[in-house]
Amino acid sequence: MIQAYSLYEGSFSVDASKKFVPFDPLTDDPKSRPGSLFVHVHPFLIETSYGLILCDTGLGNRTVEDELLIHHNIKKLGFDPQDVKYVLMSHLHKDHTGGMVDFRDGSARIAFPEAEYIIQRGEWENAYTSESPSYRTEVFDVLQRSGNLVLVEGEGSVNNEIRFELNGGHTEFHQAFHIEVGGEHFFFGGDVLPEPEELFKNFIAKYDFDGRSSRDSRIKYWNEGAPKGWVYLFYHGKSLAIGRPKRNEQDKYILIDATL
Ligand SMILES: [Zn+2]
Repeated sequence: MIQAYSLYEGSFSVDASKKFVPFDPLTDDPKSRPGSLFVHVHPFLIETSYGLILCDTGLGNRTVEDELLIHHNIKKLGFDPQDVKYVLMSHLHKDHTGGMVDFRDGSARIAFPEAEYIIQRGEWENAYTSESPSYRTEVFDVLQRSGNLVLVEGEGSVNNEIRFELNGGHTEFHQAFHIEVGGEHFFFGGDVLPEPEELFKNFIAKYDFDGRSSRDSRIKYWNEGAPKGWVYLFYHGKSLAIGRPKRNEQDKYILIDATL
């Protein structure tokens, strides 16, 4: 039994306005959304002996009962949001940060009160001062006042099982995480490695701060992790969210669904 779970929030189109519009590939026509990217959104939950780890927090959408979707999805798996001990943030774009905070009945509280929120200091500073529609300052205000914010710099470890690594690429101070628990090595590359297909093509993303750096990082993460059997977590994965490398008959590594 693998100890990582996708907290899938849905499929969306995003255009230059940076609004995430729900998109159902079965009924909606992609041509009706010109100039859009189509993405899935998967925050991840990892189970450990001392509590839960969250990798990014989703869009902050709410259920019809006005519950934060990420809370709902954690409970659906049989877990309690109060047991989340670490919220690992790759970066602070709004499709990753919406669930950091719970806005309800006109008041705002931290969504995971028992957790340390691990954020790169440079990312925090850039996000807070940016006027880009990719960031939601009202979310950061709540986190700043909460006492749950832990700013980190460069690379290091959070505890014996969690390491962070400043990798830039997608944003100037984007970070990746290595989580070694239950005999697995989970790798969360955030938006430097958002989809599995990007491991297998020479792709330079226009939406990246430094697309070449992201591309070079992906090559490194695959060359290092595939032979070691890292489990890869793809935040925007469509075909696959949690992938495990497997050597095929041609002696090449491919990815298979790690949850099966
Ligand atoms: Zn992003």
